[in-house]
Amino acid sequence: MKIGIVGLGLIGGSIGLDLRALGHEVWGVSQRASTCDRAIARGAVDHASQDLGSLHPVEVVFVCTPIGLIELTIGRLGSHLDPATIITDVASVKGDLVARLTQQWPNFVGGHPMAGTAENGIEAALSELFVNNPYVLTPIETTRPRAIETVAQLAKELRAKLLYCDPHHHDRAVALISHLPVMVSASLITTCLGEQNPDILQLAQNLASSGFRDTSRVGGGNPELGVMMAQHNRAALLASLYAYRGEIDRLIEQVETQDWPGLQSVLETTAAGRSPFLKP
Ligand code: NAP
Repeated sequence: MKIGIVGLGLIGGSIGLDLRALGHEVWGVSQRASTCDRAIARGAVDHASQDLGSLHPVEVVFVCTPIGLIELTIGRLGSHLDPATIITDVASVKGDLVARLTQQWPNFVGGHPMAGTAENGIEAALSELFVNNPYVLTPIETTRPRAIETVAQLAKELRAKLLYCDPHHHDRAVALISHLPVMVSASLITTCLGEQNPDILQLAQNLASSGFRDTSRVGGGNPELGVMMAQHNRAALLASLYAYRGEIDRLIEQVETQDWPGLQSVLETTAAGRSPFLKP
């Protein structure tokens, strides 16, 4: 197929690398000329330009810009494309955006490949980033079946695990398993950094090992991405933060009152409840 990608960063570049390897012809558009040059040099695109008008030959466009630019980009793209062209996005938050974008472009289907690294930009793009990772499509009542089928087929070619859900359900679920963990992990690091005794702080840094590495990883990532999650998924993130605060209060009470059976019971529930979130 003739594929367009707008935003040649980690996600856009990675989609390009794999779709080209599969034999698709890929047109890329990015903000900076240097990114366009690197995308060609890295083999992520066949053609690259800073001009959205260069995408007129394509059949499907993946919009992979930062979330805040997706609506504006699709608004600008429209005048350059055949109305039959299918547009999809990769934004980490879907919510009301999907309905607005479908009104703007009837051949739109929302998508979110659930894969990434702590890096960004074209140099961070990786082959096979999506293999065995969930790729969620979020069609609504008015989404055209042909748009869903086409993007689903491309996601399968990327060897991702295809899932479908309502855009608002998507946002509540990612708040729980992606956005809340960033905030929890960040507050863990802040708590450690708040240690007033420099000797204890130094000792903690020296003693930190695999457990701290695991629990602090997502809180030590890209700050802009964390702020963007909070801005664009505010309601769902707040709901999960309030629920989390309730759980912390419960743990504090159990430790204060030395309610060891109560604490044991919570930890037995979490030990048994973790694995369904970590399917192989
Ligand atoms: P990224 O690496 O920063 O890539 C975004 C790229 O968009 C930048 O490299 C930039 O390229 C380009 N860009 C910025 N403004 C543009 C414009 N006006 N027109 C065209 N291109 C423009 O970010 P990313 O991590 O790939 O994220 C992109 C999207 O993927 C976001 O919507 C995010 O929600 C979603 N997502 C991210 C992850 C993740 O873990 N990172 C996972 C799933 C989905 P230049 O170098 O040309 O400025």
